[in-house]
Amino acid sequence: MQIETIKVGVDNCYLVQDEGLILIDGGSPGAFRDFCKGIQRIGVNPKEIGAVVITHCHWDHIGCAKAIKDCTEAKIIVHINEKNILEEGRYLMPPGVTTWGKILGYLFEKWSQKFEIGPCEADILIGDNNQSLSDFGINGKIVFTPGHSFGSISVVLDSGDAFVGDMAMNSIPMTIKPSLPIFAEDILTLNKSWKKLIDMGIKTVHPAHGKSFPVEKLLASI
Ligand SMILES: [Zn+2]
Ligand SMILES: [Zn+2]
Repeated sequence: MQIETIKVGVDNCYLVQDEGLILIDGGSPGAFRDFCKGIQRIGVNPKEIGAVVITHCHWDHIGCAKAIKDCTEAKIIVHINEKNILEEGRYLMPPGVTTWGKILGYLFEKWSQKFEIGPCEADILIGDNNQSLSDFGINGKIVFTPGHSFGSISVVLDSGDAFVGDMAMNSIPMTIKPSLPIFAEDILTLNKSWKKLIDMGIKTVHPAHGKSFPVEKLLASI
């Protein structure tokens, strides 16, 4: 099993290769070239990507979803709660839950609203139950982990690798170390989702913003 990071704008997209190949998240608006350069560097044929799992539909995670779908012909997977946001290319930014989150959220909103998000049709809708990724040749599952947004999902591999979208952040200017997100729709629900992932025995957290880290680094904040 191989995990590669492709930074598409401000969003880490992760390429997970096992018997099959999937991509996690759809990058920031206007950054499709980053995706193309990334798969070229890794040496992947885009048509081999079977699915793109969208962890949630904030603007920075769906910006290139349509372009990636057209180039890969992969199935787009999203939680049912956020289907309409994806399909309308709607701009969405969550509220700040810390003082810094509120300040930065205000600045981000001013800056990011100018980007255009192309509407992208969803192919597979996830509900509240775990969904195996075996159809795509991946030993792992999709888990409903709401809190940062109401339709956030995570990919949890049998190896203990967890791709959590924005359930954690590890990147300046948001945070200086592995932390809970500074933006969230519902922080209490987010905490419950973290407990769910920890009970599943996850080992390594792969956030959408910043470097991967061992889950132990986050345990004190949950
Ligand atoms: Zn987000
Ligand atoms: Zn994000």
